[in-house]
Amino acid sequence: AAITNHLPTAELQALDAAHHMHPFTTNNELAAKGARIITRADGVYLTDSEGNHIMDGMAGLWCVNIGYGRGELADVAARQMRELPFYNTFFMTSHAPVIALAAKIAELAPAHLNHVFFAGSGSEANDTNIRMVRTYWTQKGKPSKSIIISRKNAYHGSSVGSGSLGGMTPMHAQGGLPIPDIHHIDQPNWWAEGGSATPEDFGLQRAQELEKAILELGEDRVAAFIAEPIQGAGGVIVPPSTYWPEIQRICDKYEILLIADEVICGFGRTGEWFGSTTVGIKPDIMTIAKGLSSGYQPIGGSIVSDEVAEVMNACEFNHGYTYSGHPVASAVALENLRIMEDESLLDHVRNVAAPALAEMWHGLGDHPMVGETKIVGMMASLALTPDKDSRAKFAADAGTAGYMTRERSFANNLIMRHVYDRMVISPPLIITPEEITEMGKRARTALDESY
Ligand code: PLP
Repeated sequence: AAITNHLPTAELQALDAAHHMHPFTTNNELAAKGARIITRADGVYLTDSEGNHIMDGMAGLWCVNIGYGRGELADVAARQMRELPFYNTFFMTSHAPVIALAAKIAELAPAHLNHVFFAGSGSEANDTNIRMVRTYWTQKGKPSKSIIISRKNAYHGSSVGSGSLGGMTPMHAQGGLPIPDIHHIDQPNWWAEGGSATPEDFGLQRAQELEKAILELGEDRVAAFIAEPIQGAGGVIVPPSTYWPEIQRICDKYEILLIADEVICGFGRTGEWFGSTTVGIKPDIMTIAKGLSSGYQPIGGSIVSDEVAEVMNACEFNHGYTYSGHPVASAVALENLRIMEDESLLDHVRNVAAPALAEMWHGLGDHPMVGETKIVGMMASLALTPDKDSRAKFAADAGTAGYMTRERSFANNLIMRHVYDRMVISPPLIITPEEITEMGKRARTALDESY
């Protein structure tokens, strides 16, 4: 058993409340309720300390792509810990696991992206990106190009830098974010903000906000644009088809580096190795984390184009983390990618899991409280609404319907997340059609009980 699994639930909850400050949580509220203690997991199911089997519709935090309980990853980690538990990649040293992983990522990434700068997480990788794109332009003799344009409601992490890139207002309200020279444009959320425009026109309008911002701020001051191919934590916002081609055109026209934050979209979530392929863009840098190791070890990084790497490799980049290219995390990530390839997980997503998930998810669209249902690959959202035709919001207390549905879902042993009044799911990619059917039943029960 894990370290403290033998303690009674109430005792664990009391210790948790006394000593553990949880992220993105009102800890007093949690202390009053008592945390749900997860003790083990297998496939797509979690087990809690009360013996409940809970279907994990979120793959942890959008990350356990190959599912829980893969002993091969544990074996690789143990072997690597015995052989070389740690060595850094600073100061002219390297080691086989990080070398093999960098080469493997370069092989899987689009052809022009062949260089990896490692980090411990997505937040750290995006901090790297902020400094890298600014350094790149300085090295190119254009130090005034320092502004990074991002989007409202984006999530890029919660460090000072990545939280600034993100466009979450509750985060900006605390702790002095954003840092200077970060500019946010509107998101392509047609359901909530599209008004009477068609989705296609709206997608174009929202993309053209990038061009407007570049012209207002000055082309010579803008370094990069960053976005998730499909916004995840913001509520799985799938942009209209017109959006990304226009963004790419604008980035090319004004020589703005395009950073695709693939932390959720990467490694199979959209049915391709990368979301950039799904939406048809050619980024200069991609942020990766989560699915890279299926969450079995903390690891992230930036995949960098040949052109950017050529400039960066000519100078000393005074940047890095103790755990950049950690040997155990690298070995585990490599084994995760091996499993994904050997078990043809992308084929499973494309041919089996994503079609089944789409059928189940769109099927929920007939529920009286469900507005649009959106899905790309294995990430999906639905909008809760009191009136589908007018796309109305739950006016009195925004978020209540979503919160209730999440709670009822939890009570029915399905983990779904809510982002205000959008429900989102992102299950492990290995999920079977039978499990998806079961998930659909539990989701419908949760909706019925919240209606
Ligand atoms: N970027 C995106 C798109 C994310 O969804 C996340 C986390 O959810 C991050 C970055 C931050 O990654 P991490 O939590 O590993 O720092």
